Amino acid sequence: MTVLVLVEHDGGSPDELSLQALALARDLGGPMHALSVGEAVTGLGAYGVETLHVAEDDRLSAYAPAAWAACLEQLVDRLQPSAVVAAGTNRGNEVLGHLGARRDLPFAANVIGVGGDGSVTRVRWGGSLLEEARINADVPVLTVAPHMVEATTLNGAEAAVDRFEPELSDADLVVRVVEHAETPSAGVSLAEAKVVVSGGRGVGSADGFGILEELAGLLNAAVGCSRVVTMAGWRPHTDQVGQTGTKVAPDLYIACGISGATQHIAGCKGAKKILAINSDAEAPILASADYAVIGDLTEIIPAITEELRKARA
Ligand SMILES: Cc1cc2nc3c(=O)[nH]c(=O)nc-3n(C[C@H](O)[C@H](O)[C@H](O)COP(=O)(O)OP(=O)(O)OC[C@H]3O[C@@H](n4cnc5c(N)ncnc54)[C@H](O)[C@@H]3O)c2cc1C
Repeated sequence: MTVLVLVEHDGGSPDELSLQALALARDLGGPMHALSVGEAVTGLGAYGVETLHVAEDDRLSAYAPAAWAACLEQLVDRLQPSAVVAAGTNRGNEVLGHLGARRDLPFAANVIGVGGDGSVTRVRWGGSLLEEARINADVPVLTVAPHMVEATTLNGAEAAVDRFEPELSDADLVVRVVEHAETPSAGVSLAEAKVVVSGGRGVGSADGFGILEELAGLLNAAVGCSRVVTMAGWRPHTDQVGQTGTKVAPDLYIACGISGATQHIAGCKGAKKILAINSDAEAPILASADYAVIGDLTEIIPAITEELRKARA
């Protein structure tokens, strides 16, 4: 039986998290089919996709979760897959949530491994617990936890492409994206940045982020923050890293004035290296950090910035 995977893309280039979802979906066995909405995605054969189904309709030019779920549902009817998989992105979770509701199927999010008999391993409680579960359903519906599965390639031939026009009702299009607003931190995306400079309560104020912005600019980094910061209104929620924010996996995560609560670490533990800058030598973040500078961030960050400028002069 086939496995059906929703592949998100940007102008036909597959999203990295969708490639990770394909790697996990391969472990379910069976020929792999993928759905892309709007445009064909290139290069999926190397990730094991045999057939790519491209849903085409002018009304799908903007993201509409129920409409995407309708496309998936029509493929479920046609292909009778053994499972439906997507990346654990906001969209992946939303669309598969809709699909589960439409088909009365259970939905398991944050999966990092699959076994026989519908068993799955899931990340729970912000990453502090691994759950072994069994999905009792003819068609398990699941999303893959970001940055927990490597997007490995095969020597597969290019996927065959099947273009189809889904049947969409007006109700499927009630919720849809009507506008994209630029955020002040637009530039390097937080989820994909190789370096993240992140600030917590210790930064002290919205203006205090100026020195973090300056350092981030030199490192081509994105600026992130803790929930205390977004709750105080110093930064927008889109900058929040953590269990209820964005999960990041940069090469370097610089945590400035962040204590290291489990809910924050859940969002940055995918980083290859963590540098903590904190005035408290006992701060919990030090247990997760590879490097630490103990001291006042208002002195340390400008000192790093100055050294970087000198090194590049
Ligand atoms: C359901 C739930 C979900 C949550 N989700 C998230 C989430 O997604 N992301 C998240 O971040 N939190 C989340 N939280 C909140 C989390 O529990 C913590 O409250 C929060 O992460 C703490 O933020 P902080 O580290 O900025 O602040 P604090 O814990 O107050 O730490 C401030 C740190 O700054 C240091 N400091 C102070 N002044 C300086 C200075 N001048 N120089 C250097 N260091 C200094 C201090 O020593 C301290 O370690 C969640 C909580 C709940 C209950």
